[in-house]
Amino acid sequence: MFLAHRIRLDPNNVQATHFARAAGTARFAYNWALTEWERQYELCKADPSLPKPNEAALRRQLNGIKREKFSWMLEVTKSAPQIAIMQLGRAFENFFAKRARYPTFRRKGRDDRFALSNDQFRVEDRYIRVPKLGWVRMREALRLTGRILSASISRSASHWYVSITVDTSDPSLPPTENQGVVGVDLGITALATLSTGEKFAGRKALRILLGRLRRLSRNLSRKDKGSCNRAKAKLKLAKLHVRIANIRRDSLHQLSTRITRRFHTIVIEDLNVKGMLTNGRLARAIVDMGWTELRRQLEYKSAWRSGQVVVADRWHPSSKTCSSCRYKMETLELNMRHWTCPGCGALHDRDVNAAINLKNMAVSSTVSACGGEGAGLVSKHEAKPSPMKQESDSNPSYG
Ligand SMILES: [Zn+2]
Repeated sequence: MFLAHRIRLDPNNVQATHFARAAGTARFAYNWALTEWERQYELCKADPSLPKPNEAALRRQLNGIKREKFSWMLEVTKSAPQIAIMQLGRAFENFFAKRARYPTFRRKGRDDRFALSNDQFRVEDRYIRVPKLGWVRMREALRLTGRILSASISRSASHWYVSITVDTSDPSLPPTENQGVVGVDLGITALATLSTGEKFAGRKALRILLGRLRRLSRNLSRKDKGSCNRAKAKLKLAKLHVRIANIRRDSLHQLSTRITRRFHTIVIEDLNVKGMLTNGRLARAIVDMGWTELRRQLEYKSAWRSGQVVVADRWHPSSKTCSSCRYKMETLELNMRHWTCPGCGALHDRDVNAAINLKNMAVSSTVSACGGEGAGLVSKHEAKPSPMKQESDSNPSYG
């Protein structure tokens, strides 16, 4: 099923000007092609050996001359003139099929729009990337999942909107490679650790910013309550938090895509208990945010590939249990990145061991559906094409 989602855009002045220029280019191309169509039609009426006008030939014709005659067209996406002429072709088709009236010229102010083919733009969360312009903010994220077909950017009153058409029946993603089950352990120092032993380091930029975050929040705590300096520090901190959240979300997108491509069943913790303990509230807020976002991404991306996400219970002691012999440590100091199991002598990487435990939990629960081992699983998210949920990106408050 083809569905379109119309989203209000938040362009800045430069972007709005660019939109107007792209719409002007589309309008010019449409009107040029209509004039040209009529001219060629008259010619072929006089000389039937000449070909009848058609949109594909007109597009080629314009491409041939635009560099020389209309070089300003190159300032905007090539989709703008190209798709406008395709739309003229469709308008003529509809006219010949008696579905519509004869095509008329586009007018400024009334027909301010241009379209993008799906290879010409990208949508990520609340942003759309327009060629030759860059990322433009959208008022909300795309709610539809599936293969994106096209986008049309148009002005209505003084506001710009984008209408994105999606084929919701076929996300057009190949099924997972089916490397089976994977446990994913989220962390702060390493973004994530897989039960396969792979570690995703996360961005270096993020680590630098986290250092700055710690410094800024210390700074804030030293400022007097109600003071002007405190308000300033608070704003600075909030802005930094947004930046960190964006970088982290981007890394999570890369991570979730890679994982859902490979594994059919993905096991994650319900809440990252470890994060609550390491660096106090700040670290917890970051890890929690990452966890919620990763879970959201994993769920919809694995649904696209007919996979599933399993969420393990939060009290499951995944770090302290030996993944080889199930020996349970009484305590495991947080700075212990590696430990040796007293039960079987296995040497563990703390995060890898936790990830393997998550994986094992899913495996054992499918073997014995009502057994004690399965009790660790609280919820099982079957693959279903659920609409992309709006994530709550609200910043944690800074007391
Ligand atoms: Zn052991």
